[in-house]
Amino acid sequence: MNHWLDTSKRNLVPLSKSISFTEALREWLFTGNVYDYDDGDIECELCEHPDLSHHFEIRNTLNDNRLLVGSSCILKFSEITIRDALGQEVTDLDERKFYLEDALQKKLACKTACKTFQGPGERSVEKFPPQVVQ
Ligand SMILES: [Zn+2]
Repeated sequence: MNHWLDTSKRNLVPLSKSISFTEALREWLFTGNVYDYDDGDIECELCEHPDLSHHFEIRNTLNDNRLLVGSSCILKFSEITIRDALGQEVTDLDERKFYLEDALQKKLACKTACKTFQGPGERSVEKFPPQVVQ
């Protein structure tokens, strides 16, 4: 019995059209959105793994449901689609890692810029809620 897999099935299948977990996974696509949090007290909405510091957004292409998950789940479930800038599906594991890391770095670069602009000592969280990086 794989607890991690069971939890993921329980969370994903009700939000998907297919009742088969593998088929359901194929309905999901990484949107390119990454959310960064100052206090790493969030969990993956798919496997419920705690203590994440970043959320990667995935979207169901059939019904537009969304989940915020850890990057490791997107990498572990290779059925979840990642597309490159040209819309081509990225299937190579190293390339998938690269795309997730790239999306995160873009998000972090924005955050650093916002903080520098605000000056030190100010709480950026209230003023700048998680933003979407296109
Ligand atoms: Zn997860």
